[in-house]
Amino acid sequence: MLSQKLIRQLQKIVGKPFISTKPEDLFVYSYDATQIRCLPEAVIFPETAFQISQILKICNLYHLPLVVRGAGSGMSGGAIPIKGGLVLVMSRFNRILEIDKENMTVWVEPGVVTAELQRKVAEKGLFYPPDPASLKFSTIGGNVAECAGGPRAVKYGVTKDYVLGLEVVLPTGEIIHTGKKTIKRVTGYDLTSLFIGSEGTLGIFTKILLRLLPLPETKATCVLGLSELKALPTVLNSLLRLQEPLTAIEFIDDLCLSCIAPKLPFKLPRVEGLLILQIDGSIEGVAVAHTKLLQLLKGLPVVVISTALKEEADRLWEIRRAISPAVFQLGSKKSSHDIVVPRARLLEMVLKIKEIRREFDLPVLCFGHIGDGNLHVNIMYNDNQEERAQMATEAVIKAALSLEGTISGEHGIGLTKARFMPWEIEPAALKAMQNLKRVFDPNNILNPGKIFVESK
Ligand SMILES: Cc1cc2nc3c(=O)[nH]c(=O)nc-3n(C[C@H](O)[C@H](O)[C@H](O)COP(=O)(O)OP(=O)(O)OC[C@H]3O[C@@H](n4cnc5c(N)ncnc54)[C@H](O)[C@@H]3O)c2cc1C
Repeated sequence: MLSQKLIRQLQKIVGKPFISTKPEDLFVYSYDATQIRCLPEAVIFPETAFQISQILKICNLYHLPLVVRGAGSGMSGGAIPIKGGLVLVMSRFNRILEIDKENMTVWVEPGVVTAELQRKVAEKGLFYPPDPASLKFSTIGGNVAECAGGPRAVKYGVTKDYVLGLEVVLPTGEIIHTGKKTIKRVTGYDLTSLFIGSEGTLGIFTKILLRLLPLPETKATCVLGLSELKALPTVLNSLLRLQEPLTAIEFIDDLCLSCIAPKLPFKLPRVEGLLILQIDGSIEGVAVAHTKLLQLLKGLPVVVISTALKEEADRLWEIRRAISPAVFQLGSKKSSHDIVVPRARLLEMVLKIKEIRREFDLPVLCFGHIGDGNLHVNIMYNDNQEERAQMATEAVIKAALSLEGTISGEHGIGLTKARFMPWEIEPAALKAMQNLKRVFDPNNILNPGKIFVESK
């Protein structure tokens, strides 16, 4: 319980209406998309970097834990206050500060929702490409903290490829600025890169400078069926070698397909998996690339199920978005993973997932961004199957690592994957990371208990 004296000190910083200890507020900010719950002792809504700096100085004085929160859509428990203390909500940092058309950059506050930023820059003919499926509610701050990615990463890369600079409040309260509007910069250590993907453990972003691109004029989508899964490497290899890179290459496995089949806008032939491809660019460029793609597909072991230009393309893309809610018909709970393997080993990974499905007799399914080797693996289970789901989780992680893969491509480590860190990261590298955390946060007040399993 926070003392009244401490609450008064915090009220002085942000104003009385912007700190709450009401049970209903504590409840609302106790969980994220993982549904793990831990109540904070207070929730605080600052408006300026200076206020955050003062709050952090107090947290250091009293060794009070503090967790930053964007929209709470994180899939690894990053925003959950597992050590209690304060949840600091970034919702008042909701302004787009400057869209610089000449330099093609934007200064944005971290609480801005990703889709809103994309809409605003699109009005000026500009494009912010990272497209996590959560973009209608996740924030830019959360995206930078997790280095969010999405289907368009095949052509455009992920969040880190667009962050030019940051204003950050360090855990000890200093406010620092990293990066510049310049495209190149090698002055000193690259602190911007260090903060990207730091999962709210090294500093709190209060302003973000992003690089933008010209807005593509149009797009096309193509849905392919894989009659045989074993054709996956040949097909993927050919698609990745196209001179005009595809924007997205998504995969949906047989079990996901069985869940969404009734909603599909076409009759599904007998296939062992589905691929959804996207092209974007200028009107002429997309038309040419689309024709070339259809030509290439004629020589590949695939069934072209549907292909569309412009708005129609968005309708086909709905297939991909239908998966997450639809899979709950296979189990009331989900253990969700976002492993990545080198692209040449994807088929092995998909086959291992099928093996794990059989071994643990659970609906283990996969879909995702195979153009990047990134698969979302969902283990669906019910209340009485918790232990089996845990074993299946370990099997999935081990399988990815055995194929030279990594345990997270976009959701981060947070709480749910901390115990697997030593499975992937060698002891000396893990120690270097923990030492880095100590340099920035000597009292371990900022998002403690995340990424690393702390010794008791
Ligand atoms: C349906 C659904 C689909 C999703 N699809 C994708 C996807 O396609 N790709 C993908 O990458 N992710 C996806 N996610 C995961 C999630 O949306 C992303 O990780 C997103 O970036 C989190 O943003 P948020 O604002 O919700 O952050 P939160 O969940 O609030 O926080 C996430 C982490 O960021 C830290 N943080 C937040 N703001 C700041 C800040 N200003 N400064 C420093 N640290 C901060 C928090 O402390 C926490 O550790 C999905 C989630 C859901 C629920």
